[in-house]
Parts: sequence; structure tokens; C-alpha cells
Amino acid sequence: MNSIEVFSNKTYLELSLFALFVFFLSVLYCSKSNKYASSLWCLFAGILLEFIASWFGYGISTYQKEAYFNFLVFVELLIFLGATTFMGIAASNFLVDKLENHNITLSLAGFVLVAISYFVFISPNGMMVNNLRFVFPLVGFLYLAVALYSKSAQGLGFKFAALLNSFASLSIILEIFGIECFLSYQWYILPTFYIAMSFALIIIKTDYIMNKLKDSHQKIQNSNTQIENIIKASPFPIVISKLSDDKVLVANNNAVKLFGIRENELERYKLKDFFIDQDNRKSLNEKLEQKGEVKDFEILVKSATGNTPFWLLTSANTIDYNHDVAVYLAFQDITSRKNREVLLKNQATRDPLTSLFNRRYFEEETQQRISKSIANNSYFAVFMLDVDKFKNVNDTYGHKVGDNVLIEIATTTVDALRNNDIVARYGGEEFVVFVNVSDQDKAFAVAERLRETIAAIKIPTDNAEETISVTISIGIATSDVSKDLGTLVKMADTALYKAKNNGRNRCEFFETEMVKQNRCNESLHPLFEKEENQEISLLDGVEANHIFSSNNNIENEKEDIYNLSINKKEE
Ligand code: GH3
Ligand code: MG
Ligand code: MG
Repeated sequence: MNSIEVFSNKTYLELSLFALFVFFLSVLYCSKSNKYASSLWCLFAGILLEFIASWFGYGISTYQKEAYFNFLVFVELLIFLGATTFMGIAASNFLVDKLENHNITLSLAGFVLVAISYFVFISPNGMMVNNLRFVFPLVGFLYLAVALYSKSAQGLGFKFAALLNSFASLSIILEIFGIECFLSYQWYILPTFYIAMSFALIIIKTDYIMNKLKDSHQKIQNSNTQIENIIKASPFPIVISKLSDDKVLVANNNAVKLFGIRENELERYKLKDFFIDQDNRKSLNEKLEQKGEVKDFEILVKSATGNTPFWLLTSANTIDYNHDVAVYLAFQDITSRKNREVLLKNQATRDPLTSLFNRRYFEEETQQRISKSIANNSYFAVFMLDVDKFKNVNDTYGHKVGDNVLIEIATTTVDALRNNDIVARYGGEEFVVFVNVSDQDKAFAVAERLRETIAAIKIPTDNAEETISVTISIGIATSDVSKDLGTLVKMADTALYKAKNNGRNRCEFFETEMVKQNRCNESLHPLFEKEENQEISLLDGVEANHIFSSNNNIENEKEDIYNLSINKKEE
């Protein structure tokens, strides 16, 4: 399809070469990361050889009289054959996407080579040779047109390229039959074909990218559908939320029920809205960012409809979902297990009658608080409380009313003090308090206020019209005199003993000279019956039992000593 004008006119030749170069550039661009790269390069090689063969043919036409003319014609036909072979390989590749081997095309080329040799050297046939100049390119362009058309489903680019190759074939046919029209051999046919093919290739490349995008979108869609199906079938509540804005993207039936959310309005909900403690939420996210997954993480959440908190055990992973980074969370309701844990903890740390902390917890907790107070150089005090003449309450109104009195005193004490003060039931009707106060006066003021508040409460009895009031005595020991918990409790108890001796319903400080006085009077408080210099530690079980145990014998022993000493005083 090469006009003689192209090679005889310098401008036309330059234009054609330029167009060929543009075509080369488009092949270079389009073959990058394209599965048709090898086909495109074969296509280019075929078209380039076809151009070279025509140029060569034009060149040798002036050597017709030369002895080696036959050889030159043979070379020309060989280049044409090469061009057609490359076009054939390109077309086959397009047809079957990627042909493993090209044995058939190469075998055919081999046969044709034998035929060329025969017509050129053995039985020279000028007519046949001339026809071959048209037949080779025609076969190549026709095959390409068919192959490219077979790919037309993949986009406009292939259709356009197929059309161009059909025109190229038509142009050759018109030339064979000597029909003159705009498509027959004219100088502009060649550059126009190259430029138009360049466009076609660029469209093919664009279509290829678009198809790839569509494919990957489809793949993501399929994997999302798969994920959603797995989630739906799961017996556990599962939620997928967007990592960037926390919006709920997917929630299975179990999760919808668990969080009380509406399935058709998922995007209204954000995962963080379900968390009671936002720090808990943050630490889950931090762990996810660090490791990409979190296993068995406990979270306290509430549903969208109610405010009752419940505990969940969650395992979470970051996943790709719908072109976004998302968090996949599977939950297990562990509220009953957590409640059991709290119950067990309470049983171990609380007194069953008053729900106040028990002595053991008081000792552990106060020990830590004292260490902190010492580190911060802050002042603290321990109060020992004992209900006055409580036996009378029991004797007069019965143990049940006595129990209610203890409960009322416990709740009133907790209410009257600050949240970070520690109140515990220490023994039968004895309570112990640890407070952080600024100084001794403040400690006394707090104790006095507590005493007055308790004296003011009215506790119902079995008789609906009758209420009773009780008073308490308080012994105070401050961090001025000791910073050891055991010693402080011992001192507070001594001060309590003094308060009882001084008429009850009052607060008394422990003062250092009290120890000596007590010794001189030989009216020893049970706490000081131990070896003189031994520090009595609350954490020492034997001592604690001896001093505060609810064990009846010891309690009675203690009561006796109290009574004795009171009687002694009264005497
Ligand atoms: P004092 O002013 O000297 O303290 O006189 P008191 O009668 O309160 O004397 P004491 O402290 O010796 O009496 C304690 C009484 O508290 C004896 C015991 O029966 C009673 N008690 C101890 N624990 C309980 C309890 O859990 N419930 C009831 N109802 N009574 C208790
Ligand atoms: Mg007592
Ligand atoms: Mg008492």
C-alpha cells in the first residue's frame, strides 16, 4: 500500500518517516504494563518491514538490468515475507491472547520462502513476483484486521485498529485491480495510516486501563460480598467500621441485636458511640495501629437504645473494604462472666452486712495510700469508730434492728466522707476510716462532723412509730505521730478507748503521753498487752485477730477488758 510518490518525493518521505516515528512512540507507550505488549511490538515490526520492503523495492527498480537483480528482488520479497510473518504473529497473539509458539506461522513462512526462491531463481516468473509484492502485505493486513476485530468487545480501540487494517487491505485490493479512488495508492495513505494506528493504540491502552480498573473493582466487590456472607453466617456479633471516621459499614444480625441498631441506617452509627470509656476505645485503636490486629480485648459498651453497660470481648483486624481501610470486629458477650468476677471480688473485699470494705482490703489499700501520701508529703489520719452502748440496742430492739443500725451508720459514714476516703468495717460494731486531710484540726473537724451526722440519724424499729438514734465515739491518730498503718490503728484504738472513758459520743486524739500514762495506770488497753517495743502490724494475722477478730472469744475478752477498765474508771 505504498505509493511510489512517497519514495520519489523527499517531503512525502519525511512525512511518512515522521508518522512512522509517531507510531513507534505510541507502541512504546502502549506496550508498558500491557498484556498485548509483544503483539504490539510484532505489529510495529511487521509494518516497519513492510515500509522498508516497499522502499527497497522502489530503490532496486533502477537496477533492473543488473546481473544480481534477481538476488535484490529475492531480498525484497524476503523482507516482505518477514513483514507478513511479524504481522501474522501479532495477529495470532491478538486472536488467542498469547500464543505459546508460532510454529505454524514460521512453517508457512518457510514454505513461502521456498516458493519465493523457486519463482525468483529456478523458474523466474516476473508476474508472480510482482503479485507477491501485493499478496504479502494483503495477507498481513487482512489477518490483522480479523484478529483485531475479534477483540472488539474489549473496546473502541480494537474496532478502530481493525477498521484501519481493513482499509489498508482494501487499498491493496484496489491497487491490484487498478481501481483509482481516494483509498488507492496515494502518498497520504501511508502517514495517515501510521498516525491513525497510533490513535487506535492509545485508545486500546486507555480501554485496557479502564478494563483493568473495572476488573479490580469487580474483584473488590466480590471479596466484599464474600466477607459479608461470612459475617452474616457467623454465630458471633460482627461489625465492620471505617477506620478513618468510625462509621459502621456492616453489622450482622447478631450485632444489630446486641447494639440495638437499625439495620437499614447503619451509616448513622459510629463505633465510638457504643463505648462507655473513650480511653478504652483509644487503647483498642492504638493496639490496632501498632499490630494490625487485637485479640481478646475487653471493652465496656452500651447499646444504641439503652444506657445499661455490658462487657464484650473483642478481636479486631484491619482489613481492606470497599477501597477503604476498615476494622473488622468480632464480639463475645462476657457480661455475666464479668459480673461474676465483680461479685467474687466484692465477696473477697466487702463486708456482706454493710457492703463496706473489709479489714483485709482496708489494710492493702491503705498501705498503698500511705506510701503515696509519704511520697507526696501529704498529711493523713486514721479514725477508729465504735458504736456507743450498742449491746443495749441489740438487747432492747433485737439483732435485726442492731444490724440495720450498722447498715445506716455505714452508708451515712460513706456519704459524709469524700470519695477517696476509705471506710471499712473493722469488727462487730467498729469501723475504721483513712482520710487525707491538711492538718490535725481538719482531721478533728472531719471526725466531729461525722460523729454529729451519725448522732442525727433516726433508724426505724419494729414499732412503726418509734425510731432510735445512736452515738459513736471516735479515736483519731494522725500522720504526725506515726506513718505506720499498724501503729496508727493501734493509736486510734487507744484514743477511742480514751473517748469511751471520757463519756462516749466524742472524738479524741491519740497523744504520745497516753502510752506512758496508760502504762503507769496499769490500765492497759488490750492492744498494748503485747511486748513493749514490738510494732503491732495490722498485716500481722495473729495481732489482727487478737485485736479485731470477730471471733467471739476474743471479742468477749475485749469486751471484758473494756468493761473492766470502764468500771475501774467509774469506781
Ligand atoms: P461501748 O460503748 O463500750 O462500746 O458499749 P457497747 O455495748 O457497744 O460494747 P461493745 O463494743 O463491747 O459491744 C459490741 C456489741 O456489738 C456486742 C455484739 O453483740 C454486738 N455486735 C457485734 N457485731 C454485730 C452485728 O453484726 N450485728 C449486731 N446486731 N450486733 C453486733
Ligand atoms: Mg466494740
Ligand atoms: Mg461499742
